[in-house]
Parts: sequence; C-alpha cells; structure tokens
Amino acid sequence: MSGISKTILMHGPSGSGKDTQVNLLSEKFPEVFELVSTGAMFRELKDSKVPAEFEIYQKVTSGELISDDLTYKFFTKFLNRFDPNKVWVLVGVVRSANQIKFLDKALLKHARTVDLYFNLDVSEQVSIERLCNRLQCTTCNNIYTRDDNIANCAKCGSALDGRPEDAEVQKIIRRLYWYREEAEKIFDHYSERGEAVKIDAGRQIEEISKELIDIMVAQGFEL
Ligand SMILES: [Zn+2]
Repeated sequence: MSGISKTILMHGPSGSGKDTQVNLLSEKFPEVFELVSTGAMFRELKDSKVPAEFEIYQKVTSGELISDDLTYKFFTKFLNRFDPNKVWVLVGVVRSANQIKFLDKALLKHARTVDLYFNLDVSEQVSIERLCNRLQCTTCNNIYTRDDNIANCAKCGSALDGRPEDAEVQKIIRRLYWYREEAEKIFDHYSERGEAVKIDAGRQIEEISKELIDIMVAQGFEL
C-alpha cells in the first residue's frame, strides 16, 4: 500500500508537543508530508484584503470563537493548495467532537478521510510546565523554550515572544480542562472507527517521533 492520499489527524493539548512533532516529520520526510494547520490558515487572514476575512483574523487573535460553519468553509478552500499526492498531517484542525463531521465533509471534497488519529497524551502538569517555558518566533512561528537561552529565532533571526494566550496560567488551566472533556469524546469516536492511537507525549521529542514513524510504517505508510 502506498502513502498516497493518506491523511493523519494529530491531536493533543497545548504543551503536548504536537507542533514540534509535525515539524519534525516534515523535516525528516519533506517529500512525503504536507502540514495542514488551522492556525496557519487563520494567520494568513491577517493579510486578507477582504474585510470579513480580516475581521475573522482579529477575532481569532483576541480569543473569540469562530463558528464551525465558517471555519470549515475556509478550511475546505485552504486544502486546495496542498499536494494531493502527499500524506496530509492535520494539526489543530479538530478541537471539539462536533467538528468531526465538518472535517469529514471537508476531506471528502478532496476524496480523503482520516486514516490515522494520533492522540498525544500528556498530564496537565507537564503541559503547564512546558507552556510557561515556551517562546515563539514572531515571524516564522518556530517554537523555542526559555532554556534555549536565545533572544532571536535561529531560523529567521526575528524576535521571540511568549505566546500571548499562554501568558496567564489560569487561562491555560481552563483551556486544558476544556480540552480534556472534548478529547475523550474525540478519542472515543476515532477508536470506534479503528483509527485511534494514543501516544505517551510526556517523553523526549525523539522518542515520540520514532514511535509515530514506527506506527505509520506498520500501517503501510511508505516513508
Ligand atoms: Zn523565525
């Protein structure tokens, strides 16, 4: 079986390292994977000349919720740019169980379905520790930690900043609590479809990456 047209859904709480893992996959296998994130989609709306689209960008950055209808309308269109022959790795795309049907519909328009759902499982305590320690490039969104002890991005040289929404620990805790509730429902759904794999994300980055790759290979992905 070839890896062509396969789709992976990567899911985990903030601080689970899902962005780090998908970036690592595309660095290791640039010919295989396309990274698809709604975060990137919303960030692009920043430069939109369409007032309604720029308004959505402003809402997202101020933490307001965007309706599922609208989000997946953009998402379906956003998917057009990705190589149909590559494995798509979706990250940040499903945040509630209710969104699964919207995702299914969007993927169906591209003749795809979720083949593999990775749930990056990590304790609230580890999530919070990681989030409080995180810095992000203001230009390319590469992620660092305060332990890296650098002031500028190693990739593009721009200034680093703590993610604004991570600034207040109370907000983080509330978000993790909400995540946990929905995550169980999402996991159960993909479990029933026989697509769910739980990954212990409290471990070292390379160890997790190796497990993800091993599972994909075992499932017939050509890497
Ligand atoms: Zn950068």
